[in-house]
Amino acid sequence: MKLYCVSLGCPKNHIDLEMILGGLATSVELVQNPADAEVMVINTCAFIAPAKLESIETILHLAQYKKEKPSVRIMVTGCLPQRYQDELVRELPEVDAFFPSADVHRTRQQICSLLEISENKLARWRIGHPHSAYLRIADGCNNRCSYCAIPMIKGGYRSRAMNEIVAEAEELAAEGVSEINLVAQDTTRYGSDLKEGCSLHRLLRRLDEIKGVQWIRLLYTHPAHWYPELLETMADLAHVTKYVDLPIQHVSNTILERMGRKYDRRALEALIRMMRTEIPDLVLRTSVIVGFPGETEGQFQELLHFIRDTRFERLGVFEYSAEENTTAALYKGTVSSAKKRVRMDEIMALQADISMAFNQSLVGRTMTILVDEQEADSNLSLGRTQWDAPEIDNLVHLSGRIQQGTYVACRIAGAECYDLTATPLNHDG
Ligand code: SF4
Repeated sequence: MKLYCVSLGCPKNHIDLEMILGGLATSVELVQNPADAEVMVINTCAFIAPAKLESIETILHLAQYKKEKPSVRIMVTGCLPQRYQDELVRELPEVDAFFPSADVHRTRQQICSLLEISENKLARWRIGHPHSAYLRIADGCNNRCSYCAIPMIKGGYRSRAMNEIVAEAEELAAEGVSEINLVAQDTTRYGSDLKEGCSLHRLLRRLDEIKGVQWIRLLYTHPAHWYPELLETMADLAHVTKYVDLPIQHVSNTILERMGRKYDRRALEALIRMMRTEIPDLVLRTSVIVGFPGETEGQFQELLHFIRDTRFERLGVFEYSAEENTTAALYKGTVSSAKKRVRMDEIMALQADISMAFNQSLVGRTMTILVDEQEADSNLSLGRTQWDAPEIDNLVHLSGRIQQGTYVACRIAGAECYDLTATPLNHDG
């Protein structure tokens, strides 16, 4: 059976799709062209308005193929049906079945029975780069930030058992995975709901011992949940990348309090200072929200100046999106779309300068680059530094056609606003 699939949204959603595909493994052939498909699985995201729009546009776009081939079966999985099942069934008759994201194992079984195929035992059919994988350490969230719909979609925080995570990491390493990206809604809360002794720094120590694992990257940390042993462990362990994803969302104490972020500016500054001191060569990724209800020009300027002074090496900006049934959706002081756009553009313009300056400071340095793929029709390869998470951060353009999954010592030859160019030190590509 020819199956076309697409996964929108976050790496956790990506893992869900791989788990669904695992059950279909021996009965389907993945096709890259939707026109060749007999079945389509569209794994959707629904955490903010732009993500919902992208999900619906993707469904409507792929439903076009059904006009040519009415026998094509379209299945929609993920967070959109989790939030809007009834409306979707009413509004999108071209979709054959919707599967909420709450229970991915149940979705896998239901899709197998719908396609009249017996469920395969494969835990995950990984569809990304063979040398890199996401590893979920927990799901759900108890932080209840006032603007966020995720706790309504994913439920309360549930850590996976440490042995289960380590076993999966060992399986991944045995399959040739050398880069493991740890994900959850809040990785720093890992173990808080488990018995004594289960915590993120202990998990990192166990993962660091796994043979074949070169890079372990920490994504989705929460500023309020960092603790000294975690910092020490990150600085100490050889395979943990000197990269931290630390979404701050804002810096104005008034806004942080209304967001329910559980930290203030002083705590944030102290944490970032400690991180930069304790972890040499650390690169910080963050994300911020502009246009939160009531955000004044003064509060926005405070955020802009904080970004100018803190110089995050990686930064993403989101425009506030009022999500129904969240606390913030009832807040007064809506900021106009035009003003949100202006504020977003101002931050991105500033960040482009910061990123360019940081990249220029790397020219001439020798660094290890992980090769993800060879660029089509060129004598170049594409890779990443330890400071670049897959799919969200920057790329390195390497001269030479180098084997995928190779860690290559390179000299940084050139800097662009976000990407770098590099020359392998002794690679006759
Ligand atoms: S930490 Fe806050 S923003 Fe992140 S998933 Fe949890 S509630 Fe949402």
